[in-house]
Amino acid sequence: MNIALIAHDQKKPEMIEFAKKYEKKLMKHELFGTGTTGKKIMESTSLSVHRFLSGPYGGDQQIGAKIATGEMDLVIFFRDPLTAQPHEPDVSALMRLCDVHNIPLASNEAAATMMMEALDE
Ligand code: PGA
Repeated sequence: MNIALIAHDQKKPEMIEFAKKYEKKLMKHELFGTGTTGKKIMESTSLSVHRFLSGPYGGDQQIGAKIATGEMDLVIFFRDPLTAQPHEPDVSALMRLCDVHNIPLASNEAAATMMMEALDE
């Protein structure tokens, strides 16, 4: 599966812990991420992540394009609902495309955990 991993700044520590916890499972898939999230995951785990631009510079839109062309199977996006994001339109567009194309989207750790548990080994 092609899996996208994205985390807003306040949620990056949570994403790193998540990636460590599910490292063995994630290793069996193609991972994609926004620039900084991908970099931090690779620094903290042995996972390899195809990195796009940083989110505020277009990375969310690049992942959105992959969703639109049927190249993304699952999106894990730890959003920070308590901090204003300069690229909020991009964030909304990404989530909208998941719904347009019926792509599973986990916007918080609880949902992402359920997805990981549901993924076949
Ligand atoms: P980043 O982007 O991983 O480059 O920080 C995430 C985002 O804010 O969408």
